[in-house]
Amino acid sequence: MVVVLDKNVADKQIENVIKHLEDFGFAVHKSTGVEQIVLGAIGVKPDFDIRKVKILDGVAEVYRITEPFKLASRSFKKENTEIKIKDVTIGSNEVVVFAGPCSVESEKQIFTIAEIVFKSGAKVLRGGAFKPRTSPYAFQGLGEDGLKLLRRAGDKFNLLVITEVMEISHIKLIEEYTDIFQIGARNMQNFSLLREIGKASKPVMLKRGLAATVEDWLMSAEYILSNGNMNVMLCERGIRTFETYTRNTFDLSAIPVVHKRSHLPVVADPSHATGLRDKVLPMARAAVAAGADALMVEVHHDPENALSDGPQALLPDQFYEMMRQIKLIAEVIGRKI
Ligand code: PEP
Ligand code: MN
Repeated sequence: MVVVLDKNVADKQIENVIKHLEDFGFAVHKSTGVEQIVLGAIGVKPDFDIRKVKILDGVAEVYRITEPFKLASRSFKKENTEIKIKDVTIGSNEVVVFAGPCSVESEKQIFTIAEIVFKSGAKVLRGGAFKPRTSPYAFQGLGEDGLKLLRRAGDKFNLLVITEVMEISHIKLIEEYTDIFQIGARNMQNFSLLREIGKASKPVMLKRGLAATVEDWLMSAEYILSNGNMNVMLCERGIRTFETYTRNTFDLSAIPVVHKRSHLPVVADPSHATGLRDKVLPMARAAVAAGADALMVEVHHDPENALSDGPQALLPDQFYEMMRQIKLIAEVIGRKI
């Protein structure tokens, strides 16, 4: 931690700051610059609250150098984490595509879409059975029946499946059917759910919260990792800003930012990030170009009648075109799809 002192700091204040830092357990190194005195505090613990130093008299700025997350950090693990599930690896040179409807709606719907997903070359079928809806009156998902349909459709077309878990009490049930657990944006800081999913044996995709910083998001991943589940991927799905022309603002820069700070794979979801199907293709291209390890997109053969998120679902032809284009982009950056 670096502590920059006020320009006109008094000797007594300097002594007081140093004494506090030593009492907190730090070794202190003082250097006198041309304008300001800087104290280097060595031995910062991950959970140290730097505000304890910020409020001391004579302190101008405090910077943390070490990150508060540990297991998720690049300094803990240099190599990229590769998550192997059956014959699919997420976090390798291959960009994996997850696609499917927002919600599993019926047998006919999920089998029709699974066939489209299979034909496109995507590897993972998505579909919510337990849906986190903003309105309690909106379609809440088919529950266990939806899980069964998703699994059957995935098995028929040799696709992995991913579905959302919203409650601790559903973990065991969902684990029987899914290959990957999805933790939704609204549950990114449901810490008791994160702890329990950390004890589960299947990989987890953790979506970024609507108003979460990258650090908040990595701290949430830390909850899962520190409970033993090391197969965590992070999903950028857009954040809330003042912009209204898109549903959320797609934070593409989060992809290289996370890659620098963490070894965990990053999935990009341009469907929830933009909320409009005509924005999904350009942002999918951009996400692959920015280095996403996987893409998640919503696809529907009849989006006008979809029970959730129809306006952002790609039509089958748009989806095939997206696959064609992102293959080209992947090649340019030395990856494949
Ligand atoms: C979803 O993937 O359908 C979903 C609800 O996403 P999010 O949690 O990002 O809103
Ligand atoms: Mn959705």
